[in-house]
Amino acid sequence: MEAKPSTRHNCKEVMERIHSIIDGEMTRHDRQQLLAEIENCTHCTEHFVKSSKIKTLLHLKLERKSCGEALLVSIRNKISNQH
Ligand SMILES: [Zn+2]
Repeated sequence: MEAKPSTRHNCKEVMERIHSIIDGEMTRHDRQQLLAEIENCTHCTEHFVKSSKIKTLLHLKLERKSCGEALLVSIRNKISNQH
């Protein structure tokens, strides 16, 4: 069996890791790796935003509803600055 960790995506697994991120249990490197995976999946992105207190921060920061890409950039910045 061929191992392809970069192409494999498991929403359930990602969501568990999202909770680790929110709890601050991940290193910066782990976070960025996970964020890259979240970005490729709308389902995971939605879960991440919903589960996170970052949602509140985004709500305050964003003046208007913008595209998903801008949202992800904001999330990424919040996460990067969180540590
Ligand atoms: Zn997913």
